[in-house]
Amino acid sequence: MRILLVEDDPTLGTVVQRGLVEDGHAVDWERTLASATEAVRLNPYQLVVLDLGLPDGDGLDLCRSMRAAGNPARVLLLTARDSLGDKVSGLDAGADDYLTKPFDTPELSARVRALLRRPDDARSPQLQVGDVEIDPAAHTVKRAGVQVPLTAREFALLHFLMDRAGQVVNRIDLLEAVWDANYDGLSNVVDVHVGNLRRKLDLPGHATPIETVRGVGYRIVNLPGAV
Ligand code: CA
Repeated sequence: MRILLVEDDPTLGTVVQRGLVEDGHAVDWERTLASATEAVRLNPYQLVVLDLGLPDGDGLDLCRSMRAAGNPARVLLLTARDSLGDKVSGLDAGADDYLTKPFDTPELSARVRALLRRPDDARSPQLQVGDVEIDPAAHTVKRAGVQVPLTAREFALLHFLMDRAGQVVNRIDLLEAVWDANYDGLSNVVDVHVGNLRRKLDLPGHATPIETVRGVGYRIVNLPGAV
């Protein structure tokens, strides 16, 4: 999933970024309130990991403005002190959870997993299109009942397409949802990953459920004859 890390401490930021990337997430890292506010405006994040004490302001202001704008991203606060006041005002500002510094990487991973697992209110936790099934909570994919092992990025691609089953999804939307800001926008990274995903989902004698819509992008469809 795509995550925004907002942290001005270079040492802590490096550790957190590395931990999240190792867990298979795409991570953008911003050091100031101003740049984080701009990043949230431009990109669809599933989670914001937010330090409260930033050089140009209070991280809670970002949390409040995200909620005021109806931004559905989860917010995990990083608080310096184990103070009840910080936690209460954080949750009041619309944060989903908080982690008190210092924390270790496994603890961060567990909190992030729990937050990303929490289903969106209107969304069914399991998705099925034809004979392709995806369980975002368990992070598993099956085709015709057989489990298909995917990389974190392939999983995120498939999840994004299945959320929009039957609709054409363009490459830019896929890039913004699944990759961080450091990708080379002119490369064929989406096509390569969709190709790998198709190969893994391939079932002898069956067409691929992921169609290419020439000049536009991709669409996952319910194949005729599929269950
Ligand atoms: Ca700080």
